Amino acid sequence: RTLADMDARLVECRACPRLVAWREATALEKRAAFRDREYWGRPVPGFGPADATLLITGLAPAAHGANRTGRMFTGDRAGDLLFATLYELGLASRATVTGPDDGLELTGVRVTAPVHCAPPDNRPTPGERDTCRPWLTRETQLLRPTLRAVVALGAFGWQAALAALGEAGWSVPRPRPAFGHGARVPLPTADGSGAPLTVFGCYHVSQRNVFTGRLTPEMLSRVLAEAAHAAGL
Ligand code: SF4
Repeated sequence: RTLADMDARLVECRACPRLVAWREATALEKRAAFRDREYWGRPVPGFGPADATLLITGLAPAAHGANRTGRMFTGDRAGDLLFATLYELGLASRATVTGPDDGLELTGVRVTAPVHCAPPDNRPTPGERDTCRPWLTRETQLLRPTLRAVVALGAFGWQAALAALGEAGWSVPRPRPAFGHGARVPLPTADGSGAPLTVFGCYHVSQRNVFTGRLTPEMLSRVLAEAAHAAGL
């Protein structure tokens, strides 16, 4: 099994009835600005090379962002800032992203989410979070030979990443370390084989966090640069 195999199965997933209904209804209703565009309206797989050493995980696709374009973090302001910052760090081939056909390539980095379908109000239920987690667990298992660092955007992504990494074979401290911007947790592998990785906490790149100044571009850049360094990038 490869990441590509997993992604091919993921886009067919219909395990969460509320999210299936929401993602499809949003794709039919559309936002006025995108009236003439075809929406993806399905689970959005992770994006980036299968031998990534750095994984960035957010929360879930945005209704008119990734749920529209079908590519993680693509089509909304949160993603615009994330990719622009990755570009500045030499990890993305373009500073601006326009859609799945823009030729964007990431170097050593994969972006994903613990919930792969757009939820109403950007809030998955605990049940939806738990139903989707096996996909993230599997993704980190498949990346394990190369993975050295994970950046969790926001508390939701932090908790989900630690849970998935624990299931995928890393040793996560109990109680789980608390989320914070700049938090950093080294995780050895549970069986002692293979390389450890480091999980970094970062405020989510949401429009609200950026607008209010809770997360500045400099703060994001600093965490991503540290994580890239830890990942050997
Ligand atoms: Fe499947 Fe995850 Fe989407 Fe639920 S959120 S339908 S588990 S892909």
